[in-house]
Amino acid sequence: MGSSYGNLQTKYRYKHMRLYDTVDKIKLWPSRKGILHGVRSVERNGEWLTASTHCGLEFKVRDSGNGRMIRQLKNRYYSGVCKKCGIPVWKIEKFEK
Ligand SMILES: [Zn+2]
Repeated sequence: MGSSYGNLQTKYRYKHMRLYDTVDKIKLWPSRKGILHGVRSVERNGEWLTASTHCGLEFKVRDSGNGRMIRQLKNRYYSGVCKKCGIPVWKIEKFEK
């Protein structure tokens, strides 16, 4: 991959931001109430994503480009951090940027 091609790909990926790619990268999952969980594994099944968290929860959500999750992730919105998941501070700091 050349650098110019890499640039193009970044633009493409932003436009078609997929939840799976984002969650797989940052390994964080904001719940409906805005609690950040640490993601142990995430699986894609067609349109649906299933994520298992370190605290033993399972979340299922549609992998769409404009859902609640994408909005929360884009806006860096969260109201708290799951204590059971034990997310390292640097991960939260990275998320906030
Ligand atoms: Zn948790």
